Amino acid sequence: MNYFLYTIDSNMKIDLDSENEWGHFIDPDSFQIVEITDEVPQGSFVVIKEREYIEDIDRTVIQTTYGIIESNKFQPMNKRELSKFMSIACGIYILNFDKLPPKVMIEKQLKLDKPAQLAFIMSNRDTFHLKLEKSALEGGNPIEIINSIMENQDFTSTMYDREERWKIEYAKSSRSKCRTCDSNIEKGTVRLGEPHYYENHLNYRWHHEDCVFFQRLEKENIKGLDNLEDDDRKRIEEKLDV
Ligand SMILES: [Zn+2]
Repeated sequence: MNYFLYTIDSNMKIDLDSENEWGHFIDPDSFQIVEITDEVPQGSFVVIKEREYIEDIDRTVIQTTYGIIESNKFQPMNKRELSKFMSIACGIYILNFDKLPPKVMIEKQLKLDKPAQLAFIMSNRDTFHLKLEKSALEGGNPIEIINSIMENQDFTSTMYDREERWKIEYAKSSRSKCRTCDSNIEKGTVRLGEPHYYENHLNYRWHHEDCVFFQRLEKENIKGLDNLEDDDRKRIEEKLDV
């Protein structure tokens, strides 16, 4: 990696190569996801992506680096280790706010006297599997605590009823605007929609085919490919394969 780090007060500066690197940090207290542009606060969970061309296989791949900003240092770790830190932060969030953190959902059915298995869906590509033991909830039983906060929430956010897949289709009209380039998407052309929830209603944020960075997507996470004409489907699949 060619980013470097130094400290400004309690924040750290992370310099990313804007062409080939991008990243986000997650505030452990609020679970807000923030794009890294400059400084990252202490304690943040960090996810950095790097686009890299590998000559041997003539392919561009995306590498992910995970870590935490701790004691004025960037501590790299693997995704599982980072998930453990997130699980602890998730327990604290639940005890503080009586609700699940944003983008955290119940992944597996809750069982008595078993740790709760939750998922933090940061993006299409990055899901963190969280495991909440009793110890993360000050000895409380995960099933009781989570069931009681779910009753207070307007809806139950489980993996089963929340759409996380993108959608591909032919634009039904020329009225939709591309969220990337801000111009209209012509009727009948391929458009890709990113799922977005507003007050629990599913909406899509549409993009032109040429405005989507396909390497951030996976085929399994796009619905509607089979409804496209063969030529269009093949072209999209090739872009997804790169
Ligand atoms: Zn566009």
